[in-house]
Parts: sequence; structure tokens; C-alpha cells
Amino acid sequence: MTTPAAGWLTGSLARAHPLTASARSITFTVPGWPGNDAGQHVDVRLTSSDGYQAVRSYSIASAGPGGEIELGIDRLPDGEVSPFLVDDLALGDTVELRGPLGGWFVWRPEQTQPVQLIAGGSGVVPFIAMTRTHASVCSSAPMQLLYSLRTPNDAFFRDELSQPSATARTTWHYTRTVPPGWSRSAGRLTAEDLKSKTLPPEQAPLTYVCGPTGFVETVSRALTSLGHAPDTIRTERFGGT
Ligand SMILES: Cc1cc2nc3c(=O)[nH]c(=O)nc-3n(C[C@H](O)[C@H](O)[C@H](O)COP(=O)(O)OP(=O)(O)OC[C@H]3O[C@@H](n4cnc5c(N)ncnc54)[C@H](O)[C@@H]3O)c2cc1C
Repeated sequence: MTTPAAGWLTGSLARAHPLTASARSITFTVPGWPGNDAGQHVDVRLTSSDGYQAVRSYSIASAGPGGEIELGIDRLPDGEVSPFLVDDLALGDTVELRGPLGGWFVWRPEQTQPVQLIAGGSGVVPFIAMTRTHASVCSSAPMQLLYSLRTPNDAFFRDELSQPSATARTTWHYTRTVPPGWSRSAGRLTAEDLKSKTLPPEQAPLTYVCGPTGFVETVSRALTSLGHAPDTIRTERFGGT
């Protein structure tokens, strides 16, 4: 596990681009950043002019050594921090960062067993770091992503995730609106969907589930009902329902 830097570091916004109508990729230059493993997250601290501080956790879309980190932030309309990061933070502005954090919800290149990733909404961000790392080391471990999102327009990093390799691929699932000609109607993921769209227990995958709390709990329960051992399922909850 990459050990966190001591204390808070200063990150300066170096690059930004929209991911969807409500989400933005933001990349910070962070002097002293020790690098991070795929799946780790960082705490972001904002301080207003009157000294009020707010801290939120964000998964890191980038991985490996180097003094930059990329985050993917979805704007919650009534949120305190995410609207500022998506709409207001300008190039050159600074925030405080603490991390990298988390040693359990990570995928490392030396892992060889099949991997099933299951994302709900912005929960795809740590899986971007995992699929990038998987591709960069030409891993032979099978890695599949099942990405559940409301509509086709809500996909983060669609182009990147649409390029399958010999050992990695993405399957899409839509809960509110499906593209023309899509074989399944819109609706939440069911145990049947998981059975047909994810690696079966017989292949002994290590499964990572990430997204809103309700999504993670529903998917985890369905996976165990399909025969996956609880200790083969790793979860990260983003909050909300
Ligand atoms: C380990 C970890 C990693 C995370 N990674 C990401 C990430 O990569 N990208 C990202 O966009 N977010 C991520 N989050 C969520 C993030 O930390 C914030 O909770 C989110 O940005 C909302 O903060 P806010 O200040 O805008 O909203 P707040 O002011 O905190 O909350 C506003 C309202 O939204 C509800 N709410 C809070 N969080 C969520 C949520 N995640 N989904 C739905 N409703 C919510 C609250 O209950 C409240 O009613 C992560 C959370 C954790 C714990």
C-alpha cells in the first residue's frame, strides 16, 4: 500500500474537462504527492475566507507514481462541496489534499485472479484507476466492468471504457433511459442481471462494488445470493442512498 503523505498537501488545479453535464474531471499538481495505488482515495479540504472548512473524500482516477492526481466529481445540486469543484474551481486555484487513503479497496498489478468491477454512477472513478493500471502493465488477469448509470449521457470516461482489450471489457446497464435498440428495458440492476453480466462464482473472481450506499448494499446482497463468498466482495460506499 502506498503510504500517505504526512499532513495536508497543496494541490493546484492543472487541467479540467467536463465528463458529463453534471460532472468534471479535475487534475491537480501536488508537490510531495507519494503516488497511489489503483482504488485509493484522497480527502479534499476547502477553507472559506471566514475560516470555515469542509472536507470530502474523492476516489482517485489516476494511479502510480508522479506528482499529479485526477479526480472525477459529480455535482450534487444541493451539495456543499461538489458544486464548487465542478462549477467554480479555476485553473491555478488551490485546495488541500490528504492521502492517499485506503488499503483494502485497491487492485495491484501482481494480482492474478479474475476481477469483476461493478460501478453505480460516479462509483466508476476508482475503477478507472484499476483499468488504467491493468492496461499499463498488460495484465493477463481477466478484468470486467459492469457500469450501471441512469442514462447513456451520464457515462464518465465512455471513450476510454469502450476500448476492450484481450483481457478487459465494459458492460453497460441503464436504470432510467436506454439507447435505441438496447435489448433490456431501463431498470435497476437485479440478481438476474448480475448473473448474466458478471463473472460467475465458479471462476472465483474478486469483486469490487462502488457507488451510492443503497446500490452497494443491494448489489452485495445479490452477489452473495448468487453464491459469491462474502470475503471475495470488496465495497466502497460514496454516501447518499
Ligand atoms: C471513499 C469515498 C470516495 C468518494 N469518491 C467520489 C468520487 O470519486 N466522485 C464523487 O463525485 N463523489 C465521491 N464521493 C462522495 C463525496 O465524498 C461527497 O459525498 C459528494 O461529493 C457530496 O458532497 P457535497 O458536499 O457536494 O454534498 P453534501 O453537502 O455533503 O450533501 C448534500 C446532500 O447529498 C447527500 N449525499 C451526500 N453524498 C452523496 C452521494 N455520494 N450520493 C448521493 N447523495 C449524497 C447528502 O445526504 C445530502 O442530503 C466519495 C465518497 C467516499 C466516502
